[in-house]
Amino acid sequence: MAELVSNWAGNVTYAAKEVHRPRSADALRSAVAGNARVRALGSGHSFNEIAEPGGEGVLVSLDALPAEIDVDTAARTVRVGGGVRYAELARQVELHGLALPNMASLPHISVAGSVATGTHGSGVGNGPLSAPVREVEIVTADGSTLVLGRGDDRFGGAVTSLGALGVVSALTLDLEPSFAVEQQVFTELPLVGLDFESVMASAYSVSLFTDWRAPGFRQVWLKRRTDRPAADRPPATPATEALHPVPGMPAVNCTQQLGVPGPWHERLPHFRAEFTPSSGAELQSEYLIERSRALEALHAIDAVRAAVAPVLQICEVRTVAADEQWLSPSYGRDTAALHFTWIEDTDAVLPVVRRVEEALDAFDPRPHWGKVFTVPSERLRGRYPRLDDFRALVRELDPTGKFTNAFVRDLLGG
Ligand SMILES: Cc1cc2nc3c(=O)[nH]c(=O)nc-3n(C[C@H](O)[C@H](O)[C@H](O)COP(=O)(O)OP(=O)(O)OC[C@H]3O[C@@H](n4cnc5c(N)ncnc54)[C@H](O)[C@@H]3O)c2cc1C
Repeated sequence: MAELVSNWAGNVTYAAKEVHRPRSADALRSAVAGNARVRALGSGHSFNEIAEPGGEGVLVSLDALPAEIDVDTAARTVRVGGGVRYAELARQVELHGLALPNMASLPHISVAGSVATGTHGSGVGNGPLSAPVREVEIVTADGSTLVLGRGDDRFGGAVTSLGALGVVSALTLDLEPSFAVEQQVFTELPLVGLDFESVMASAYSVSLFTDWRAPGFRQVWLKRRTDRPAADRPPATPATEALHPVPGMPAVNCTQQLGVPGPWHERLPHFRAEFTPSSGAELQSEYLIERSRALEALHAIDAVRAAVAPVLQICEVRTVAADEQWLSPSYGRDTAALHFTWIEDTDAVLPVVRRVEEALDAFDPRPHWGKVFTVPSERLRGRYPRLDDFRALVRELDPTGKFTNAFVRDLLGG
């Protein structure tokens, strides 16, 4: 490949023979139709080979397409191009007095790539980022465009598709009136005696952070909508200065805290668009389990924390409301998500990833599709009740397997 392309973390260099950057919808259709093996590349924030088309294949990046963000204020929807990132989308939506229901920890990621992997924020009442998607436009194998909307039988497979159906050229999302959020951080929440349900329901979006160097949680981040009544505070100490979740990192990278109200898109992500998110030198893993079993699962991780802590930068615990995308890790179950930001050392991290997977195995965890995991596909298949429907949809829309890479082939089997 003439141009070396890596993911954001730098732990994957794609073997693709070429990267296409079409500048128009026609050029996108030709790039798809004219190549036998194709994968879309979003903003490259995944930590594994989900986007890898293989050495004979091509990557198609939508970065050079005009950034379409078309807000319909009357319908309260936005049509957004396949290359657009949340930072630009959120700014435009807010300028129209509207809002997305939720955001991930960072706004730097592409909308199409995020919803393709089941990316989520937090909140017991908030589904993943795919939840507001009402329509998806896909450039399929022959270069033609297919639009699938809510109500179509195939819609359940169309949004969180792992990129296996084609290149998503646009999405239409539901919006709501803009709202303000105030963010407050608390420190030292004990695990023993934790009322997980009530702490996680104590604000619109709640995250717990720990380094597992000691029992319990070092920080609790509460993001409260100012248009909703305040709930009880967690049994922890209010922070008196702004904090970064990763020990030693500067809080200036983070969205404003200390209870200062601000627009939804400047409080729901943890990290500001203009700074490096998270620590910048890292690997990540995440496991999504049934929310009702979260406390048990946290104790299972606590039991292996001596193995986890040395390679961990930070662990974050969030919640996601059940959704209906067949391959969504929060499909059909109200979810707790246990996330691990590891040090940037694959050899040291992988054995610990396996320890965490063993500790969580009894909880039928569904790994985040865009992060590091080693759970064999045979085990994962049983955790996705609509996998056969997804397989049939892939066969229907992509009979020659143009978009099926090693990652997807391994998952779908057969
Ligand atoms: C610092 C950091 C923080 C993160 N925080 C969170 C978080 O808070 N919550 C969370 O759930 N995840 C989080 N993630 C993970 C991240 O959201 C996912 O990896 C997500 O997929 C990133 O989107 P992307 O555009 O970078 O995808 P890519 O890595 O570029 O691609 C991912 C998949 O999407 C497909 N894809 C991309 N664009 C298209 C398209 N136009 N059409 C069809 N398929 C497409 C690709 O083919 C690939 O299969 C974080 C990652 C990082 C690096």
